[in-house]
Amino acid sequence: MQLPRDVLIGHGVLEEVGYVCRDLKLKGNALIVTGNTTRDIVGKRVCSILECAGISAETVLTCKATIEEVEKVMEKAHEVEASFLLGVGSGRSIDLAKLASTRLELPFISVPTAASHDGIASSRASIVDNGRSTSAQAQSPIAVIADTEVISAAPFRLLAAGCGDIISNYTAVLDWELASRLRNEYFGEYAAAISRMAARVIIDYADSIKPEHETSARLVVKALVSNGVAMSIAGSSRPASGSEHMFSHALDRIAPKPALHGEQCGVGTIMMMYLHGGNWQEIRDALKKIGAPVTAEELGIEDKYIIEALLHAHGIRPERYTILGSGLTPSAAEKVARITKVIS
Ligand SMILES: [Zn+2]
Repeated sequence: MQLPRDVLIGHGVLEEVGYVCRDLKLKGNALIVTGNTTRDIVGKRVCSILECAGISAETVLTCKATIEEVEKVMEKAHEVEASFLLGVGSGRSIDLAKLASTRLELPFISVPTAASHDGIASSRASIVDNGRSTSAQAQSPIAVIADTEVISAAPFRLLAAGCGDIISNYTAVLDWELASRLRNEYFGEYAAAISRMAARVIIDYADSIKPEHETSARLVVKALVSNGVAMSIAGSSRPASGSEHMFSHALDRIAPKPALHGEQCGVGTIMMMYLHGGNWQEIRDALKKIGAPVTAEELGIEDKYIIEALLHAHGIRPERYTILGSGLTPSAAEKVARITKVIS
């Protein structure tokens, strides 16, 4: 199991980045991977905090999560003789730092500026390879520094999407149990318990997850870090990714303008919970309370793409057995979307 060694979550913890590097005995030059957006302000702050702590830091700006950008980060790391990387951003920069550091066999620190998905603390990275979005295996961050002051200042839509990514644990675990029964696949009770607990916390506290509340950011970040831990314990993404994730990945490929990963996973969870015969209304109600999308319209995606994604989802990862089995029929796909009010 590969787990982060230092996890800092709280108000102003960004200032501790130099302390964390010393605590982890990280020596030499740092390379900060960040985006060319307003979030880049945080990248600059991290750079000056590191320099004040006597660590020389260089920055590489990235724009897309593609294999070419991973190579660009690797080249820059060679050029500045970096001995560790920091991913500073909402997702893309963390994924790029994660993949580049894995290939370079260097440690990396995750500094999320938003809490929109569980990639902030996991060993998986979303990357576009040959025009196709895929999920690649990488290393876990050696440390996670999640400043709730920064995260609560990010658009609330991102935090609500993070909740969708966590709530999706419910159907991911049900799919995992199904695969264990039907395919004798290994099932990890402990990882599954952590995963379910994170989803339960978000559902139970759905009423109190509000914009600009640092307590909300703290709750969601803790759950996202728990997801990373659950996946590390399981040795796979099974506890946090099932049929609802396959639906989201299918939408990424099919919809002309996909929504956020966590938003699509949340809507996927409503429908997959219906297929499992579970309490899909509870999932829908919690997402609604939080302010996350629950319909195709709220996702900004036409009904026909929802149906198409439902029909193609089982083919995204054929080796991963889920409730989708060998696929839905067109009439079954339309039925699940209608009954759960995703399409009208
Ligand atoms: Zn996810």
